[in-house]
Amino acid sequence: MSAEVIYGKQLAENLRQEMKEEVSILHERGLRPKLVVVILGQDPASMSYVKGKQRASEKIGMDSDLIELPVDTSEQELLELIERLNQDETVHGILVQLPVPDHISDQKIIEAINPEKDVDGFHPENVGKMLTGQDTFYPCTPYGIMVMLKRADITIEGKHVVIIGRSNLVGKPVGQLLLNENATVTHCHSRTKNLRHHTKQADILIVAVGKPSIISGEDIKEGAVVIDVGVNRVDGKLTGDVDFESAKEVASHITPVPKGVGPMTITMLLHNTIKAAKRIHNG
Ligand code: NAP
Repeated sequence: MSAEVIYGKQLAENLRQEMKEEVSILHERGLRPKLVVVILGQDPASMSYVKGKQRASEKIGMDSDLIELPVDTSEQELLELIERLNQDETVHGILVQLPVPDHISDQKIIEAINPEKDVDGFHPENVGKMLTGQDTFYPCTPYGIMVMLKRADITIEGKHVVIIGRSNLVGKPVGQLLLNENATVTHCHSRTKNLRHHTKQADILIVAVGKPSIISGEDIKEGAVVIDVGVNRVDGKLTGDVDFESAKEVASHITPVPKGVGPMTITMLLHNTIKAAKRIHNG
């Protein structure tokens, strides 16, 4: 058996085309969704992410600003900037590229952003809403995974989902979103004993660790759905956390790296920004 490959890239392109049409309709109605991305310093990986976000916004005709600040910007200066963006009625989505330098508290920055403009879905108010099953901004990577599963017609209800990873960015929120959809969820992490015992029971296996080939075909139940979130660079090449070649012989569906989960993350950021604009506009 060779698994069906779920290409997030293709799905992301289709969704962005739909969003482009929606943005154009909103423009005609006088509403211009706008995303502002703030970055401190010139870390090449972070710069490449934020440029990608900006390019994607522009491609769907959405207004976007990139504010580049020096790495030694003080916490107070950053908080003041966020407050100005919170007050600015032309701005609907605010994203501060994380991590910020060590002299600034990530959590303070996340909490300073108006929850109505928190398109990353990291503000505790939005996390709490997600936890209690309310409509809100969901973190982009977990939300992208949910959309991929649904568009690939994969049933979630009643399935045993095993997630390797419990970060606030990916592992925990994707587990919560799946629980909200009636999956039975197991989280594994660095202290989990006998990882394979757990992964072998998964109907849906989500791997969000950041270690190349931590999972291979031998760790997967026959017919499982495998979602590889990992992004690693090995010998200059992008690779996931799953050994794709062996896994695809066992799984029923599998996401590749690149062209898998990655493109969905930015797409959901665009989605959240359009949603924020409409919510703010409608009061
Ligand atoms: P993270 O914060 O470093 O979390 C990694 C998780 O993996 C932790 O929960 C850790 O456990 C667990 N872990 C580490 N070693 C393990 C092991 N040997 N066995 C089992 N669990 C282990 O990373 P993250 O932010 O969640 O990101 C995970 C990966 O996804 C990274 O490769 C990242 O680049 C990628 N990513 C991709 C996208 C995308 O758009 N494609 C978006 C975000 C992240 P402990 O909690 O016990 O430390």
